Amino acid sequence: MRLSYGSARFLGLIKTGPLLKMKTIYLMFGEKCVFDCAYCAQARTSKASERMLSRVIWPKFQQGKVISAIERSSEVKRICLQVVSSKTAKDESFDFIENVRNLNIPISASVRVLSVKDCISWFERGVERLGIATDVVNERLYKLYRGGDFQSHVSLLKKVAERFPHRITTHAIVGMGESERQMTEFIQNMHDIGVKVGLFAFTPIKGTKLEKHPKPSINTYRRVQLARFLIENDWANVSNFKFSESGEILDYGFELEKIPNEAFMTSGCPNCTRPYYNENPGKEPYNFFSKVERANFVIGNRKV
Ligand code: SF4
Repeated sequence: MRLSYGSARFLGLIKTGPLLKMKTIYLMFGEKCVFDCAYCAQARTSKASERMLSRVIWPKFQQGKVISAIERSSEVKRICLQVVSSKTAKDESFDFIENVRNLNIPISASVRVLSVKDCISWFERGVERLGIATDVVNERLYKLYRGGDFQSHVSLLKKVAERFPHRITTHAIVGMGESERQMTEFIQNMHDIGVKVGLFAFTPIKGTKLEKHPKPSINTYRRVQLARFLIENDWANVSNFKFSESGEILDYGFELEKIPNEAFMTSGCPNCTRPYYNENPGKEPYNFFSKVERANFVIGNRKV
């Protein structure tokens, strides 16, 4: 099994590198996915190293050492399994879950599930939440970059969310070519069915099909982050938003003076931090993971 470098450092399994304030630790099971998402380091035809997921390195560790380190730490609030769709990943994940269930730490598993039955098997094993990635929220680009049918995927999310209320998270990547309007309408749609959205910023990875695709602007990302925060807290509804012709958010129908910094923190499952998953250290991060240092951006012709 693999751990994100930051998680391994946090648990003391690696002694070098900055020790970051993390509440969730991230594990990866499997490598070289059977699917071929155009943006993913683990995709079938990707030439990126099998140690990579997004821009993060995931060194290998023995399961026993990882479990002992989690037992020693009193600060782990959630364990997140990133499950790559490869032959043995599900069995390895189930084996791990079985061995950490007694620690009573909530477990999330981010998995590409294809049926409700598949989801049931994960919940029966003991995961608290399932992360079912959407990633690409534009219907045409979903098919192009991820493969499969967007509407069938959303309908699966609805069925699973009905069966397991408030236990589903989906991932959405900003900057795949969707408009801000499409992204925020998707977030509202998910909120209406009780699904939380973990926002990611597109990160070009060398060796993937989209290695030359640009990152989203920080202004776009902040506008979408704020939209997600307002929608998930029922402070605003996308039906009251105003958009430009190109789909840029111009107004939320909400007093901008009241925006809390929390709007710009990492989103998704409770306590998910994902430090530097999309961003280079030293630059203003897309997702703040401990505290917000600055988050100025533009909405319409206003700087906030
Ligand atoms: S939101 Fe965070 S904790 Fe939840 S599945 Fe995604 S990466 Fe894991």
